[in-house]
Amino acid sequence: MAETKIEWTAWRDGRGAMRPGYTFNPWIGCTKISAGCDNCYAETWAQRFGDVQWGNHDRKRTSTGNWRKPYQWAKLGRESGGRPKVFCGSLCDVFDNQVPVLWRQPEPTNIISMDRKRS
Ligand code: SF4
Repeated sequence: MAETKIEWTAWRDGRGAMRPGYTFNPWIGCTKISAGCDNCYAETWAQRFGDVQWGNHDRKRTSTGNWRKPYQWAKLGRESGGRPKVFCGSLCDVFDNQVPVLWRQPEPTNIISMDRKRS
């Protein structure tokens, strides 16, 4: 699972213990659309993968195994009595209009996304 140290994703299980949250990227990549994107953290981070083309290119959907993770986190939540938090889209924009609508299926866990800045 894509466990993360991002503080706001930490969550409490049913016994009150703090647990780390997760990141989920249904695809990787985005297009810069404004000056607000000049220092895009996601782009810098994603380039470490080596095969991500940032900009007006086809998006690369992540693996089927990765798409199963939200269901695993939902199961973990049921078993632990808590609600795992997931940062969806740490390396993409979930409102990216270059991906098929089916790539934005609802997920069974709490998904919090960053809104795309258009100014
Ligand atoms: S919309 Fe967000 S993820 Fe996409 S390029 Fe701009 S800052 Fe990066």
